[in-house]
Amino acid sequence: DMAQFAQLAQLAQRNPEIKYTEIFINNEWHKSESGKTFPTINPATGEKICDIQEGDKADVDKAVKAAREAFQLGSPWRKMDASQRGRLLNKLADLIERDSMYMASLDTLDNGKPFIQAMFVDLQGSMGTLRYFSGWADKIQGKTIPTDGPHFTYTRREPVGVCGAIIPWNFPLMMAVWKIAPALCAGCTVVLKPAEQTPLSALYLASLIKEAGFPPGVVNIVPGYGPTAGAAIAEHMDIEKVAFTGSTEVGKIIQQAAGKSNLKRVSLELGGKSPTIIFPDADLDFAVEEAHQALFFNMGQMCTAGSRTYVHEDIYDEFVRKSVERAKSRTVGDPFDPRNENGPQVDLDQYEKVLSMIESGKKEGAKLECGGQAAGEKGYFIQPTVFTDVNDNMTIAKEEIFGPVMSIMKFKDVDDVIRRANDTPYGLVAAVYTQNLDTAMVMSNSLQAGSVWVNCFNRIYPQAPFGGFKASGLGRELGEYGLEQYTEVKTVTIKLPQKNS
Ligand code: NAD
Repeated sequence: DMAQFAQLAQLAQRNPEIKYTEIFINNEWHKSESGKTFPTINPATGEKICDIQEGDKADVDKAVKAAREAFQLGSPWRKMDASQRGRLLNKLADLIERDSMYMASLDTLDNGKPFIQAMFVDLQGSMGTLRYFSGWADKIQGKTIPTDGPHFTYTRREPVGVCGAIIPWNFPLMMAVWKIAPALCAGCTVVLKPAEQTPLSALYLASLIKEAGFPPGVVNIVPGYGPTAGAAIAEHMDIEKVAFTGSTEVGKIIQQAAGKSNLKRVSLELGGKSPTIIFPDADLDFAVEEAHQALFFNMGQMCTAGSRTYVHEDIYDEFVRKSVERAKSRTVGDPFDPRNENGPQVDLDQYEKVLSMIESGKKEGAKLECGGQAAGEKGYFIQPTVFTDVNDNMTIAKEEIFGPVMSIMKFKDVDDVIRRANDTPYGLVAAVYTQNLDTAMVMSNSLQAGSVWVNCFNRIYPQAPFGGFKASGLGRELGEYGLEQYTEVKTVTIKLPQKNS
């Protein structure tokens, strides 16, 4: 509702005061060991917001030491009741709620995402995830198991230990929370590296973690670059698990580093090339809007982006006409203005990469229906772009674009579209639009994807597992499955004097 959005947007802070720019270790702020800093840029203008202390291996080592100490047997964190860990997570959610306008403003400034979307998606998603896991803390249970012989056997689910987290820039606060919440719920300690493009909200979150009352060293946040600070986490001999979200390319590096160092546990949330499939019996206008949002939401910077839109031949022409009309009407500009649906791409690299993907689409013979160029005089804005007559072998149909570029393809029948939808190394999500229950069931059982959405999209909830098949990832986040990744199962067997059933 525009009136409500306009009212909310009044509460945004266009120039939020930047309170924290240093490395957070042991609930204290530290300068980098090297003395180096790096700039974080406002993508709507291309101008520097501020300089951030640049963490590297030496700072990661310091942070891991703090996290290790906080995890020692007998430490305040290890002695704390599980219910109290849950209360602290809830407290943290309350503090985020108190400061949500400010934190959404930080993400809009640093990432370029529309403020209203930051409020409704990033902030709500962060609070919801913390509250969901706060309830789990005292419900992580083992089992008693009737083993053979005069023995009593039970399992304990213990925290994995010190957890590294390396996160991307597309949902700066929410990605930090997706990693921190289950880790703390399980009783782990954390060393987190935000993306170099978007460190601000994670650093502010650090101050709230301290305010909530988490003991020193339980969460440590080290801003810095991937090949330095990120690699130091992945290779660390004293980190028991690493959780990563980002590109498939870097995901492979993380898993290799884990294998070469101490075999730390690895969970990976990677790229995708997800199909949105529209059958002729779908509600057409609804499907047009959904397929549009599936791709253009967050400027296309979604691991779940519906970046291959498969449309049945019977409705293809009408679907294309309506989709192009919709993309042309998508508003692009100042992300603090509630009328804008799209802000800029996150940085110059992404902006250039997306523009070059658009060029490849033109060169390889896809039909450019609208957009296709940069927008605005400054900042990293790109026009909403639609290609039609895309064939499965074109670069834009195979590679992740991570930008506002929709590719529409035509299909004939169920078998044709299942084969083509699955013909990709990725397998993150898939969506199907149909009114036919049989079609919905056949499709959802056949698509190789960690999440299948029927007549909906981007329905990601704290309660349900989320993650990828194939090269889209390893393990799951959120839900009970997500929590399991932060626990080790220990089997304890005790000899009894005599067995009794
Ligand atoms: P990236 O994978 O390079 O970066 C993600 C995180 O990994 C960042 O914190 C980065 O500093 C860190 N990193 C980079 N190199 C590293 C290394 N060698 N060791 C350890 N950590 C390292 O992603 P990007 O460059 O920001 O974006 C590139 C592409 O990644 C995008 O175009 C998109 O395809 C994909 N991406 C996916 C997601 C997602 O949600 N799955 C998010 C962002 C980007």
